[in-house]
Amino acid sequence: MAFWRQPLDTQEIQITRGEVSIIEDRCKGCGYCIEFCPIHILTFSDHFNKKGYHPPKITKAGECVNCHYCEIICPEFAIYSVNAADAAAEMDTSISAS
Ligand code: SF4
Ligand code: SF4
Repeated sequence: MAFWRQPLDTQEIQITRGEVSIIEDRCKGCGYCIEFCPIHILTFSDHFNKKGYHPPKITKAGECVNCHYCEIICPEFAIYSVNAADAAAEMDTSISAS
């Protein structure tokens, strides 16, 4: 979609990226995170968790914008996101420490 004008700092704005984690056995399969993710990168997985529900899975890894909405809306605290850059830095630290 073409906009007839853009903010002056458009070139400086960077989209944040997130890394989503799902604690599958906490999930009760309500689908809220799937329904309300603003960029629709979650769907039900084919397998069952310990409670007998289909937990969500990520369909487009690397496209999460780290908005935390899934985290806020999940009634079971079964999904969360962290800043992808922070997660990568933490991974580097733990690799170099070992
Ligand atoms: S943090 Fe936002 S963009 Fe990422 S999976 Fe959750 S709702 Fe979707
Ligand atoms: S909102 Fe939480 S409980 Fe509901 S499907 Fe998503 S992860 Fe599972």
